[in-house]
Formats: sequence, structure tokens, C-alpha cells
Amino acid sequence: MNSKANNPLLKSWMPVSENSDFPIQNIPFGVYSDNKVAHHACTAIGEHIVDLYELSRNGYFDALNIPQEYFKSAVLNDLIAMGKTTTNHLRERISELLRDTNTELQNHKELHFLVFKKQSEVKMLLPVHVGDYTDFYSSIDHATNVGTMFRDPANALLPNWKHLPVGYHGRASSICVSGHSFHRPKGQTKPADAELPVFGPSKLLDIELETAFIIGKSTNMGESVSTEKADDYIFGMVLFNDWSARDIQTWEYVPLGPFLAKNFASTVSPWIVTLEALEPFRTKGYTQEPKVLPYLEYSGDRNLDINLEVYLQPEGGDENKIITSNYKYMYWTMEQQLAHHTVNGCNINVGDMMASGTISGPQPHEFGSLLELTWRGTKPIKLSDGTERKFVNDNDSIIIRGFCKNEKLRIGFGECRAKLLPAK
Ligand code: CA
Repeated sequence: MNSKANNPLLKSWMPVSENSDFPIQNIPFGVYSDNKVAHHACTAIGEHIVDLYELSRNGYFDALNIPQEYFKSAVLNDLIAMGKTTTNHLRERISELLRDTNTELQNHKELHFLVFKKQSEVKMLLPVHVGDYTDFYSSIDHATNVGTMFRDPANALLPNWKHLPVGYHGRASSICVSGHSFHRPKGQTKPADAELPVFGPSKLLDIELETAFIIGKSTNMGESVSTEKADDYIFGMVLFNDWSARDIQTWEYVPLGPFLAKNFASTVSPWIVTLEALEPFRTKGYTQEPKVLPYLEYSGDRNLDINLEVYLQPEGGDENKIITSNYKYMYWTMEQQLAHHTVNGCNINVGDMMASGTISGPQPHEFGSLLELTWRGTKPIKLSDGTERKFVNDNDSIIIRGFCKNEKLRIGFGECRAKLLPAK
């Protein structure tokens, strides 16, 4: 993919600090709101958002033929549905307008107060209407850790695991954008020493470090997407926290998988980083042995080098970094996940979200859940305030951050933050 907007030499006339998630090479898409604007599409540059509706209204996108109302919709689905030819042109055009050598917008100073707003002074909204949400289970270290803990270390992976990207259909209604809070879920659990189940607040509330990709092109029932064509159907990625109540999960999950243990809240970062912006960070995937079936084969470097970090912040306290991992530890690629998801003819829609599954690396500090980090609570984590955590406490905030970095370029995702409130 040859995108001018990815040129690492480009500089913006807008201020961008060295470690910003949002240099001119990123141009992610989101939706914001403030006291004057109900919802406008936006992108980010440095510490500012860029109001795309105002740019459209002032004629900057006239050559692109995108209906103006798409930029003031509450969600980006219609804009994304126009297709990659259009959205890539839009990304290139925004890049052009923000470039230091371009004066079209730079000199139009009377517009700047409408177009540029501090990210800290706006509220970011959930960027798409999510019709369907799927969660995979595609990190080999995570699946091995869980299999070792709950079943048999010698046969940690179930027989199907290396033959297909295991997944389940999740719940879209409780996907929330970064900055929200939610109550500790209540439910049915069965303590190990009890004969009968009990009801009450979950005692083992966990996080799952994940990313998700967002579908950018719909299919009809009966159609399948090949690994080769999959990128045409993937608009971009967000960070994803798949909150999980382990005690509810343990009791309910047989034989159909997670249900109430995972459908009470999921948190996503507000900026969709396009697949095109991530292209410079493609890296080699796992060697898949045994060989996969032909519909899951792919060629080239289809994994991604995305640094992932998780922080735990107690109420009023410091952020404690508890996980340092990387997306590249995924065994199955997004392209394989999508090919598998549609191989039976299952149709997909613009805005559908497909999450990676917990991403764990081989080292203990790379484990993507507290379940693994504390090894079922047997090795508590020490925080800077001297307290310990086995799982998430009431009023703790969890923050996921992610960024790609090479010698020339750093592209980030912003923040995926949520706070756990006491049970209602
Ligand atoms: Ca998950």
C-alpha cells in the first residue's frame, strides 16, 4: 500500500510533541461532542481534535463527494460505508491540509477556533454503531496459560486451537467508550467448597487486554471473505478491554462459553486508527504448525507490532503499570479471523467489532489479564501505595494504552479507560 500520508518525513504546522500518539501520519477517526457541538466527526493532531464537519462545511472536502451530513452524524458508519477509496482519499486530504507546506487551512485563521479544539476540552463518543460484536481467543500464550491453570498443563491447548481461530458472539449493547464507569456485576457463582451456588457481587473481577478491528465493508449472507481480501473489509483498530467476572465465568461457561461473565461492560478507545496508518508496522506472524486449511492460509507479514500497556489506578492514587505486552504475540491474524468468521456465509456489517481475545506474551509481565498475572490470585501484584491486588477492587480505574514505534515514526491509539464502581 503506497500512502503519501504515511511518509515519516511529513511535518504538520500544528504542534505535535515527540511522543504524541497523533502525528500527521496517524489521522485516526472519531466523533466528539462539546457544549456547542452535539456530535461531529473528527480526527486528531497532537493534542487537538480537528472538526471534520467544519472542514466539510467550508469546502475543504468538495472534491471527495462525501455528503456533509455524514460528518455530523452521531456515528461514523455511513462515512466508513462509502468505502476505502473514499476514506483513504479523505485521510490523504486531511494530511495535505495539516502539512507544513500547505497554507489552505493554515492561513484561514478565522476558522481555527471552530476546527481545532483541545482534546482535553471535548468529550469523545463511541465512534460507530456496533451491530454485532465477536470476541476471539487468538493469543497462544493466553490460551496456554488458561489451559494450564484450569485443565492440564500437558494438554493446555484444546485439539481445535491450532486449526481455527476460536471465537464466540459477544454483546454489543454494553460496549462503552473510554472514560465511562460501571458497577461491579452481580451473579451466580459456586464457591469451591460449597455444594450449591450463591448469588452476590463478583469477587474476581478481571480485565482482558485486547484490541478490536472494525468492519468497513458489509457482505451479504452466503458470501465469504478470503484472507487475501480481508483488509478491504477492515477499516481500522481500537484498544479493547473485555471486562470479565472470573467467578461467574467458571460456573456458567460449560458447555456454551461465556455469557453473563462478559456481557456487562467492554471498554474501547475512541479513535479508530486506520489499517492504512498501521501498514508501516506490519511484522511476521507466528509459524503455524500444523499447517492450516487452505481457506486460512495467507502470505506476507500480516501480524502487527503494536506496543500495549495496562495501568491500574486506585481512587486518588498513581497509575501503576501492570502489563507491558505487544499485539505481535497473536497467533491468528485479523485476516484469518475474518476469513474464518465468514467462511460459513455469515454476513458482516459496517461497524461490527471483532476483538482479538486477551493478548498475552511469553513473559509473566506480558500476561494480558489479572488471572494470569497473579496466577489465579496466588501471586498478588504490589502497587506503589503499598496495597496489593489479586483482581480489580472497587473504584480502581484500568487504562490501556497502545502505540506503534519504529526509528522514524510513532503512531498511537490514545487511551482506553474505565472505572469500576461498587456493586449496585
Ligand atoms: Ca476476551
